[in-house]
Amino acid sequence: MGIIVQKFGGTSVADVNKIHNVAKAVIKEKDNGNDVIVVVSAMGHTTDYLIKLAKEVTQKPDSRELDMLLSTGEQVSIALLTMAIQSYGYKALSMNGQQVGIITECIHSKARIVDIKTDKLKKHLNEGNIIVVAGFQGVTPDGEITTLGRGGSDTSAVAIAAAIKADRCDIYTDVEGVYATDPRIVPNVLKADTISYEEMLELARVGANVLHPRSVETAKQFNVPIRVRSSFNLDNLGTLIIGVENMEIYKPVAGIAADSSQIRILISNLPDIPGTAAQVFGALANKNISVDMIIQSLASNGTNSIAFTVDENDFDYSVQIVNDIKNKLNAGEISIDKNIAKVSIVGAGMVDRPGIAADMFKALAENDINIKMISTSEIKISCLVEKENANKAIKALCKTFGLESNVEAVVKGDLPNL
Ligand code: ADP
Ligand code: ASP
Ligand code: MG
Repeated sequence: MGIIVQKFGGTSVADVNKIHNVAKAVIKEKDNGNDVIVVVSAMGHTTDYLIKLAKEVTQKPDSRELDMLLSTGEQVSIALLTMAIQSYGYKALSMNGQQVGIITECIHSKARIVDIKTDKLKKHLNEGNIIVVAGFQGVTPDGEITTLGRGGSDTSAVAIAAAIKADRCDIYTDVEGVYATDPRIVPNVLKADTISYEEMLELARVGANVLHPRSVETAKQFNVPIRVRSSFNLDNLGTLIIGVENMEIYKPVAGIAADSSQIRILISNLPDIPGTAAQVFGALANKNISVDMIIQSLASNGTNSIAFTVDENDFDYSVQIVNDIKNKLNAGEISIDKNIAKVSIVGAGMVDRPGIAADMFKALAENDINIKMISTSEIKISCLVEKENANKAIKALCKTFGLESNVEAVVKGDLPNL
């Protein structure tokens, strides 16, 4: 007998019927003799709807109040799922982030978890309860409600699994596992039976939204095995994410993803003196804005241009900051490019294989796709392209790196009646 943490995403709890089927999947795990903690997201597109509602009230909703609003979505689904489980005669109770003690820093809309209290969780498990916890939310030491960022319920689940020392964390979603790319873009894409934390982390960071990046970071840090599997086909074990995959890596590229939520900002005519970049990026860091790709180039007149990308949610603040810097340093024009997507290939097997980058650029060129920026790391190469070319690029790269299969992925279906 062990402890299993199960997480069900929004599509898995989108209506009453699906909630009942999730209840049966939870009970099945309990009947296997395990203690079960379930983490759920808000029903269907509830979070999107709440954000839309807030923006109808005001274009710039206050981030504290937005967290207050968004955290209600998960509270609806935990109560309904708990009622469903109880209706089958099982002991269950729901808990929100505050009741569990999911303690976070006080950064609204993207708070990081700093601690999870396990005393109440253990007490309720010992009393034979199935516990249903609200994902995506936490509380600061001062009692302020926070959220972890979009898709953050995955992180809630893995962090709870780490804190309670669970045997496994099963992430149930609307696809049958982790594929080499989003199966909605390339239906005949290869599925992975296993994938390493490193590769999954990088894939999640560059836009494979099947897992919240911080969930993989936490799993890697605390050695929590994760299974990504389908709520609609419980017999399929999906993909196991673990520490070490094969001793030798045969495929240089494990996965491909695109991120079209970035914006490129270019500042021209910056003084070419020590400390300029430190001022630009220091000011952004002070406002908690993460910068992704950066290019600095020297112009013939002895000045520098710096181009970088930020998340679209940080756009307004970034532009304000960059304008201040422009005035302070007497820099030139600022230009903004919103029509971009970052396409990345990821694979532990690309280390020491210089031909991979060339193959990527060639595949893009053959498809008439212009590259606006490039960045590389040991296991990743990213190219910035025009938004409308992102899917075309992914399809071409899947072909180039042998990531197609002859089986079509099942993306959505109805939950089976157990
Ligand atoms: P949930 O609501 O269950 O959290 P998400 O929508 O966050 O579900 O994540 C599942 C979706 O992730 C899938 O429907 C799929 O379209 C997308 N996805 C993107 N990249 C991948 C990938 N490499 N493997 C599997 N799914 C992916
Ligand atoms: N409900 C939140 C969202 O839609 C969290 C999650 O689904 O993981 O982003
Ligand atoms: Mg998700």
